Amino acid sequence: MKKQQLIFPLTISFSLTLLIVSARLFPDVPSWIPPGTLPVGPWDAFRNFTGCRQGENYNGLSNLKNYFQHFGYIPRSPKSNFSDDFDDDLQEAIKTYQKNFNLNVTGELDDMTLRQVMLPRCGVADIINGTTTMNAGKDTETTSNSDSKLRFHTVSHFTVFPGQPRWPEGKQELTYAFFPGNELTETVKSVFATAFARWSEVTTLKFTETTLYSGADIKIGFFNGDHGDGEPFDGSLGTLAHAFSPRNGRFHLDAAEDWVVSGDVSKSSLPTAVDLESVAVHEIGHLLGLGHSSEEEAIMFPTISSRMKKVVLADDDVRGIQYLYGTNPSFNGSTVISSPERNIGNGGCSLTSLWSPWRLFSLLTFVLSHFLL
Ligand SMILES: [Zn+2]
Ligand SMILES: [Zn+2]
Repeated sequence: MKKQQLIFPLTISFSLTLLIVSARLFPDVPSWIPPGTLPVGPWDAFRNFTGCRQGENYNGLSNLKNYFQHFGYIPRSPKSNFSDDFDDDLQEAIKTYQKNFNLNVTGELDDMTLRQVMLPRCGVADIINGTTTMNAGKDTETTSNSDSKLRFHTVSHFTVFPGQPRWPEGKQELTYAFFPGNELTETVKSVFATAFARWSEVTTLKFTETTLYSGADIKIGFFNGDHGDGEPFDGSLGTLAHAFSPRNGRFHLDAAEDWVVSGDVSKSSLPTAVDLESVAVHEIGHLLGLGHSSEEEAIMFPTISSRMKKVVLADDDVRGIQYLYGTNPSFNGSTVISSPERNIGNGGCSLTSLWSPWRLFSLLTFVLSHFLL
């Protein structure tokens, strides 16, 4: 993840001098999309592997192995040409995935497992450097469900990155800046401010916007496809965003998503609508040092459905961030417990989506980054 860490800011700075691309907002969802249409993501074809059996060969199964490798379930190796065989490695990856996502641990590609796999999610791996910190890596107690299959339960679910990186103890104020090439409106920027406030409310950390992009602690930008850090985005749905652990500060969002910046995303007729604040709150957790949690209610759970709003920190998130940074003396937990906002749609009267016009920009950035390398 630290690949090209030094080159990337240099590339961005250079690119900025060549091209400024405006973001555009449109006031409502397009009316030509019929309501109730199923979202289509890059992993939908995995549905065809439902019921596949170990020891058999299935056309395209290597794509599923690539998926599991990307998120840490199959170790990375110099030679990554996977076969289409349903082998032992895939079965082990499935079992670990099922533990992490509170599914029945069968090692089989059952319907529930593939439904979970196909959901849009954060691009940060669940298992980093082979260290399993979600359910599968914790001391667990097991109980039997009605099907006599094991489910895993742990008291605490939050995780931190290997080595527990965090921002320096004496640094209470972190600055953030938006990639100037995106030309975001104040409305969009305010969504991020709200997301930061959710974390500062439970700690003593403060977040301040600065216009000095190169000098900001946290750098936020929307990019398309391959944008120079070895973690290319994949178009609508699939991977939505990724962020780097402290003290890197990079926070990237897939410009190809249909980002909803205000209103009730759950009522959107756009099947691919993704709530911007929900994703921002999650990624800020990574920027501060939290990894993924197996607690489904937690902000740090890796997946989020389209048209879903999930912005309120769960107790698990609060425990995690306070483990790293301590508590906020003025926080008594009431916000988490009695917040009027619920995760999954909240009230709102207008729906605004962020149009994504940065394909040319990202292409240029990619070309320039490789040229500079
Ligand atoms: Zn994440
Ligand atoms: Zn990136």
